[in-house]
Amino acid sequence: HMLRKKLPFLHSLLSPVSRHVGHLTGHQYDVIVVGGGHAGTEAAAAAARVGAETLLITQKIHTIGALSCNPSLGGVGKGQLVKEVDALDGLCGRAGDWAGIHFSILNRRKGPAVWGPRAQLDRQRYRDFIQSELLSTPRLTMVEGSVEELLVTEPNPEEPGHHRVTGIRLGTQSVVLTTGTFLSGSLFVGQTTSPGGRIGDAPSSAGLSHTLRERLGLRTGRLRTGTPPRIVKDSVDLSLAKLHLPDSHPTPFSFLNTHTHCKPEEQLPCYLTFTTPGVERVVRESLQLNCHIQQDTKGPRYCPSIESRVLRFPGRSHQVWLEPEGVTSDLLYPQGLSMTMPPDIQLRLIREIPPMRRAEIHTPGYGVQYDFVCPTQLSPALQVKSTQGLFLAGQINGTTGYEEAAAQGLWAGANAARSALSMPTVTLSRTESYIGVLIDDLVSRGVTEPYRMFTSRAEFRTSLRPDNADLRLTPKGFEEVGCVSSVRYQESLRVRNSLQDALTALQALFLSTSSWKKKLPSVPISETKSTLLTGLDLLQYNDVTFEMLASAFPESLSSFMEFAQRLKIEAVYKPHCDLNKKEIERIQREENMSLPQDIDYFSLPVSLSDEVREILDRVRPSTLGAATRLEGITPAAVVNLLNYVRVTE
Ligand code: FAD
Repeated sequence: HMLRKKLPFLHSLLSPVSRHVGHLTGHQYDVIVVGGGHAGTEAAAAAARVGAETLLITQKIHTIGALSCNPSLGGVGKGQLVKEVDALDGLCGRAGDWAGIHFSILNRRKGPAVWGPRAQLDRQRYRDFIQSELLSTPRLTMVEGSVEELLVTEPNPEEPGHHRVTGIRLGTQSVVLTTGTFLSGSLFVGQTTSPGGRIGDAPSSAGLSHTLRERLGLRTGRLRTGTPPRIVKDSVDLSLAKLHLPDSHPTPFSFLNTHTHCKPEEQLPCYLTFTTPGVERVVRESLQLNCHIQQDTKGPRYCPSIESRVLRFPGRSHQVWLEPEGVTSDLLYPQGLSMTMPPDIQLRLIREIPPMRRAEIHTPGYGVQYDFVCPTQLSPALQVKSTQGLFLAGQINGTTGYEEAAAQGLWAGANAARSALSMPTVTLSRTESYIGVLIDDLVSRGVTEPYRMFTSRAEFRTSLRPDNADLRLTPKGFEEVGCVSSVRYQESLRVRNSLQDALTALQALFLSTSSWKKKLPSVPISETKSTLLTGLDLLQYNDVTFEMLASAFPESLSSFMEFAQRLKIEAVYKPHCDLNKKEIERIQREENMSLPQDIDYFSLPVSLSDEVREILDRVRPSTLGAATRLEGITPAAVVNLLNYVRVTE
């Protein structure tokens, strides 16, 4: 809190150092992180937590933690990433709890495995939280400046084409590049193009792109994205939009928080409205004045501009969410209206939507195009394969979204620190985390358009739930990675042991169906089920809550009331998770099983994607274990392969 109060003062201490490199030459850093966006801040904090002397260099200190586009965090698939970053002691979950002004769990009608914790954020509070956390992180120094060049050694004669990064005119062991949308960035509004990484910010210098492409021989590509105009709130007639209230009990993102900073009754609403045929007409009439939309560069498919939505789905009415930008902000963020036409046409367009008939634009929407590095050139530790010590994270790897950036940043930062401190790098598998799925997808498949996370990308999503991120990742984060504090670790052990004790107590309640019926008369217990049921079996019934069981058996269960919801979810998913676990164990047991060398992978009558068939056909792994370790081969594909070979033996 004190640090938060002192922020302006501390900012002045960290005043511009574009000449700063000279000021810092006396100091040796283990890890240098370039860029203070969502990837860079998590990377720097994680590297410092692992024990590395870390330097974060970013263009503007006061934009550290800035939300370039939407004022929100989490959602379906993305909320899982936030929970996992938090389980590894990252920042974004706690920042979301501090800055959230409208919390809701998306996808509630589906099972808890695919619920999407999401919050609308106050931009300023989010930024303040991230900055104060970084300022109070031991071993972390921040300076303002733009990195123009990477220093690398000549290729290693024993490994042609392999370099080692040595710094940015400072001595260092590892560098994490997190340049976001800034690498050779260009901004687009109407027919005007200008250099920039984000409105008001210069792009990353061409020298950096040059080092990556020409000096290190890395393949790069170009992607684009865009943002909506910000609307003056008082100029919008919100009575013409549908009110959307937050959850009455906000659910914090962070395992460490029992409640959010914003009180339930202080939360702000969002509003839903729809486009009209007039919107489509304005888009079509202005296409020739809109350079960004005319480019071939790929944009975010799942967060498309209004131009792309109208052109892909003509004649439809599209949702537009009017979202608050902060507690004291007088602006609204119209989610779904990202656009790049000239500002006067943007005004015409928004005025075609009933609540915005008289709306005023505060800042016009714009597009950005930027370079990314094809991520198949990275290892699963997010290290450039051909350049020892160089790690990349975030939008530079072709992803889109704060959560994807934060997740990669944390992992790259932790690994950069480990590498600098002569410890082996660590990996996360697809079976233990969404972060593992994200990284595996990037490094083994690459990207052709901005990549975002979905729950459908995770084969074992019933095990990789938001509610159990702490159980899956915190012990590994502490014991193997070193990025988790001892306080969080101890608390996670307490929770894990209590959950285990509660599950044991539930399994020990072993009663006949008729006894259960007497104990819980309101629950329609099926007679066709086994005549003996445990408390855990019963908790799998839709109508049975842990609270009901605890009131029937207070002596064995009442001490576990704080875990009521977790235990219910644990019970519902137990059969799926046991099956997943058995499959994973079976793959490990059958590691040495031979795969026939004459197998025709293209005609195998099992469920394998074309991509997987192509990899198996090309590499022809001799054993199941070898197939498991191939980049691009998912655990689900290995299970299908294993089943096929066993049946045909
Ligand atoms: P950023 O948040 O971009 O941060 C990069 C940081 O690196 C900045 O602080 C910059 O100053 C610094 N930096 C760059 N180069 C250097 C250098 N050479 N030296 C020192 N510092 C440097 N995401 C979505 O999910 N959906 C969307 O629709 C969407 N639309 C967007 C529209 C726009 C116009 C922009 C700008 C972004 C949009 N985003 C969207 C993307 C979202 O902002 C990013 O995914 C996320 O911010 C990426 O985080 P990052 O850490 O990789 O990079």
